[in-house]
Amino acid sequence: MNIIMIGAQGSGKGTQAEALERALGLKPCSSGDLLREHIAKGTELGLKAKPYVERGDLVPDELVIGMILDFLRASQAQPGARGVILDGFPRNIPQAEKLDAELAAAGQRIDAVISLEVPRELLQGRLSGRWVCRAQGHVYNAQTNPPRVAGVCDVDGSELYQRSDDTPEKIERRLDIFFRETVKLLDYYERQGKLTRINGARPIDEVTRDMLAALGARR
Ligand code: AMP
Repeated sequence: MNIIMIGAQGSGKGTQAEALERALGLKPCSSGDLLREHIAKGTELGLKAKPYVERGDLVPDELVIGMILDFLRASQAQPGARGVILDGFPRNIPQAEKLDAELAAAGQRIDAVISLEVPRELLQGRLSGRWVCRAQGHVYNAQTNPPRVAGVCDVDGSELYQRSDDTPEKIERRLDIFFRETVKLLDYYERQGKLTRINGARPIDEVTRDMLAALGARR
C-alpha cells in the first residue's frame, strides 16, 4: 500500500507518518528529511538543493523527483516491503504526474491520499515550538507533544534541534507556497477518488485513529 500525506508545514504529517509506520509497517519517506541528509553530507544534490531549502523555496522538480524515485526503487527492492508513506512529496502537480507515471511503469500506484487539515493561524505557533531529533527526524512540540526529557529524543536519545527554516519569515514563505501550489494536489487526487480529508487540529491519537479508519476503509 502506497500512501501520500498532504498537509501544510506543522500539520503533523511527520508525526502521523511515524504512527502509520508503527501500525501498518509502511516505510516513511520524507522528502525534507532526505534533502536535509544530502545537505548535511555535502552530496552533489545537497549542494544544489541547499540554497532553496535555506530560503524556504521549493527545490527544482528534477532534483527532488530523482531523489524520491531512487528511494522508492531501493525500498521496493527490500524483502518484505509493504509500501511507503510519502511525506512532503509531491508538492505540486508536475511532481504528482511524474510520480503517477513512474509508479504505473513499475506496475504500482498510489492507493490513498490523506490531507491533514489545520487552520493557517495554528501552524505558525506549532512550527515555532517544533523540535526535531538529529538522528532520525522524530518530531516534538514544546507545547503539544513535548519529549520526556527536554532536548532529548524519546525514541533514540539523540539531541533535539530547531530547524533553521522554522523562523517566522521562512515559515510564512513556506506556508504561502503550500497554500498557493500544494493545495492544488487536493483536486488532483480527489478526481482520482483517492483523497480523505482529516481534521488535524486535534490530539495526535484521535488523528491517527481517524487516519487508520480511513485507510482501512480504502483497502
Ligand atoms: P519539509 O521538511 O517538508 O518542510 O521540507 C523542507 C524543505 O525541503 C522545503 O522548504 C523545500 O525547500 C524542500 N522540499 C521538500 N520536499 C520538496 C518537494 N517535494 N519539492 C521541492 N522542494 C521540497
